[in-house]
Amino acid sequence: MVLKDDPSLMFTNAGMNQFKEFFLGNSKPKYHQIADTQKCLRVSGKHNDLEEVGKDTYHHTMFEMLGNWSIGDPTDSSVGYFKMEAIEWAWEFLTEELKIDKSSLYVTVFEGDQADGTAKDDEAYQIWKRIVDENQILLGDKKDNFWEMGDQGPCGPASEIHVDIRSPEEKLKVSGKDLVNKDHPQVVEIWNLVFIQYNRLANGKLQELPAKHIDTGMGFERLSMVMQGVQSNYDTDVFTPLLSEIETITGCAYGKTETIDIAMRVIADHVRAVTFAIADGQLPSSTGAGYVIRRILRRAIRYGFTFLNTKEAFIFKLVKVLVFQMGDAFPELQKQDTLCENVIQEEEHSFLRTLAQGLTLLDQMIDKNKGNELPGEKAFELYDTYGFPVDLTSLILEEKGLTLDEKAFQKALQVQKNRSKDAAASQTGDWKVLLTNEADQFIGYDTLKADVKLVKYRKI
Ligand code: ATP
Ligand code: MG
Ligand code: MG
Ligand code: MG
Repeated sequence: MVLKDDPSLMFTNAGMNQFKEFFLGNSKPKYHQIADTQKCLRVSGKHNDLEEVGKDTYHHTMFEMLGNWSIGDPTDSSVGYFKMEAIEWAWEFLTEELKIDKSSLYVTVFEGDQADGTAKDDEAYQIWKRIVDENQILLGDKKDNFWEMGDQGPCGPASEIHVDIRSPEEKLKVSGKDLVNKDHPQVVEIWNLVFIQYNRLANGKLQELPAKHIDTGMGFERLSMVMQGVQSNYDTDVFTPLLSEIETITGCAYGKTETIDIAMRVIADHVRAVTFAIADGQLPSSTGAGYVIRRILRRAIRYGFTFLNTKEAFIFKLVKVLVFQMGDAFPELQKQDTLCENVIQEEEHSFLRTLAQGLTLLDQMIDKNKGNELPGEKAFELYDTYGFPVDLTSLILEEKGLTLDEKAFQKALQVQKNRSKDAAASQTGDWKVLLTNEADQFIGYDTLKADVKLVKYRKI
């Protein structure tokens, strides 16, 4: 999941990342037909599902993407398989192996794009038409049904498979076809079949590839939901052991109150992302990929702190449950379990201290403040000096019937950003003014003044 050799990406966010060089034709695969499970993390860049996580029941930060692959060979057309096999096998796997009810599945086909001259994927349409009722086929646009690696290079149309797991009564009310790709929690995409058949040239034109490829991705947790006959990924055995441990530790019950449920889902989800990242070698830190992991963990801590009333470190205790569940399939978890626990516990301690300190200060600010609105500069002071998240400030103010002057907060933030840009050049030895360089490690504040803050850095 952690990528160390791809400057364009911090974490694997799709099953194809590791096969990129084969699709680009830069290297040859040992095997042309592959089936796998790939750990993915979608929290930044092109795929960022973070804000959905916990609020909905089917987007995770870290998830397993199951895939089957055919990597063509330009010198040998007998190698691999393409669209017909990929579609027929996907259908066979879902309906005959897994015995998913055929009438609950919907498939989508690329409708074409006049603006850039890309044709409708009629080939896929004709194949699907032989397999499923035409009523279950939908046309989709570029956003959902055309995949490109970048502005140039391998690309092609896709067919997504969606499943409708609503009750028969609900199905009578509205056709599942009308709910595909509409963020309905029980009509969800489970599998994406990408037919890599073109090469996008620098002038934007498409050229048929001499060797075509198949790239498919299916969400393991969503498939588990379908197979286990439940209505949410969190009701599958991927998540129930984690949720029951959270219930035991916090004394809160899952399934009764929306805010508590969201917090529990966030924590169950995020502990997986953070533990898998640490086991893969990415520790939380104050810069780059490490900071992404730290932020995910802090998000979980904050949800616990605010909604489950957890004032002591507890997320680290979930690592045991996760390792017990997933350790056989992912031995790296077993090997690193103590490290994962210790790192998470330490992060929790330190962020809980920040939260406690910030809360005391915020209370004092609220006491002193006249009127119903807290000045944005005050919230900025908490954020900037104590790392106290501004959304938590807003939340606490809201609970007390107060508001925050968000505009003033944003203004102060912008002033600081500009200042740190200006400060980029003003470096003296191992000391620097403000956070400027990702390769510097933050080791503490020196002095605090109203206008300039001296921050201590060690060169690394
Ligand atoms: P969605 O439209 O639901 O966001 P997607 O089209 O972004 O999904 P793809 O990039 O096509 O997803 O990924 C292939 C498969 O991976 C999806 O069909 C889905 O089953 C699964 N998947 C995608 N994103 C997530 C996520 N954040 N959490 C869990 N599973 C996911
Ligand atoms: Mg998505
Ligand atoms: Mg989609
Ligand atoms: Mg998709």
